[in-house]
Amino acid sequence: MAERRKQTVEDLKNVEFESSEDVDVLPTFDMMGLRPELVRGIYAYGRFEKPSAIQQRAIKPIVKGRDVIAQAQSGTGKTATFSIAILQNIDTQIRETQALVLSPTRELAQQIQKVLLALGDYMSVQCHACIGGTNVGEDLRKLDYGQHVVSGTPGRVFDMIKRRTLRTRSIKLLVLDEADEMLNKGFKEQIYDVYRYLPPAIQVAIISATLPHEILEMTSKFMNDPVRILVKRDELTLEGLKQFFVAVEREEWKFDTLCDLYDTLTITQAVIFCNTKRKVDWLTEKMRENNFTVSAMHGDMPQKEREAIMQEFRTGASRVLITTDVWARGIDVQQVSLVINYDLPNNRELYIHRIGRSGRFGRKGVSINFVKHDDIRILRDIEQYYSTQIDEMPMNVADLI
Ligand code: ADP
Repeated sequence: MAERRKQTVEDLKNVEFESSEDVDVLPTFDMMGLRPELVRGIYAYGRFEKPSAIQQRAIKPIVKGRDVIAQAQSGTGKTATFSIAILQNIDTQIRETQALVLSPTRELAQQIQKVLLALGDYMSVQCHACIGGTNVGEDLRKLDYGQHVVSGTPGRVFDMIKRRTLRTRSIKLLVLDEADEMLNKGFKEQIYDVYRYLPPAIQVAIISATLPHEILEMTSKFMNDPVRILVKRDELTLEGLKQFFVAVEREEWKFDTLCDLYDTLTITQAVIFCNTKRKVDWLTEKMRENNFTVSAMHGDMPQKEREAIMQEFRTGASRVLITTDVWARGIDVQQVSLVINYDLPNNRELYIHRIGRSGRFGRKGVSINFVKHDDIRILRDIEQYYSTQIDEMPMNVADLI
């Protein structure tokens, strides 16, 4: 196991970045000048041996207080990158919020909180997940007690700021995870709402696997001379992640194709993406009618149910999850080795994020796209855009997982 992980880190190191000139590469955690109790947390958590490529480059500039734009492929350790930098700069003697992390989904905000708590296990750090759909009273109580770091979704965080329960005067760092999504139409206003309440000298770090040009252009409005660590478009899809398609003539054929693949899905764990909540419900129902065991999750479910399903899937109690793009970004379940696009995603960025749910940190991964006649064109466009290869699914696909 240790051998495999070592090799993985080496592989990831070969990725070329387009970085600002002043970015140093620090090949060990010990070279980063981190506090001993944090280093202990890093080695204890998931037995990290060496920093990944993005960790080698981006932790230090964030710790130094620079604004940072950090891009790296899915599953290469971006969460730990900003979490380690946050923990290094927190003063645990002051029980005030000093760092705020915003992300697009509740599940991701909770996952980030857990990573922060685990890495900060020897630091007595208080970190709260401030997300919609949960008890407001609990938020008030936790924030009132004082939290060093808050990881949340924009709506609830803004609510807490307006109530003055989340005090912003000591916040020094704002992290936008999945930044391109956070700065997209749906979220942008809410992000600016929060931003306006933060101290004027706030440090900002933006993180994502995908940072389209128009998003990078926007950053000059709220970032100050940022350090840029970017990945070339043709290096965004990882080598270890194989991509295939199955051509179906009609929509109805997708279902039979999925049933034929069921044994392959359950070799480890699989995520199936549909484009709408209704379709998730429909497909789940239809799979169950045909005696296949599947779980389902989408944004219209009550929060308690969302949490139960996440728990079930994270522990491996359920092996096949049918979901929407609520699951496309950031969610890390290491055992997922297969992603099915039952429907093709609506944009190129989502494609990268969806397929990135498998093949975490250099593990093997396979994604299979179901394509109707007119979808082939869209797939070919994606293939060309990322200079990647999407072949017809081979008979022995199960051997690749
Ligand atoms: P990203 O945010 O880039 O998609 P994550 O931060 O979720 O990726 O990390 C993906 C997986 O890799 C996680 O399970 C994490 O624990 C693991 N990981 C992160 N950094 C390291 C490291 N330096 N060594 C080993 N595993 C790591």
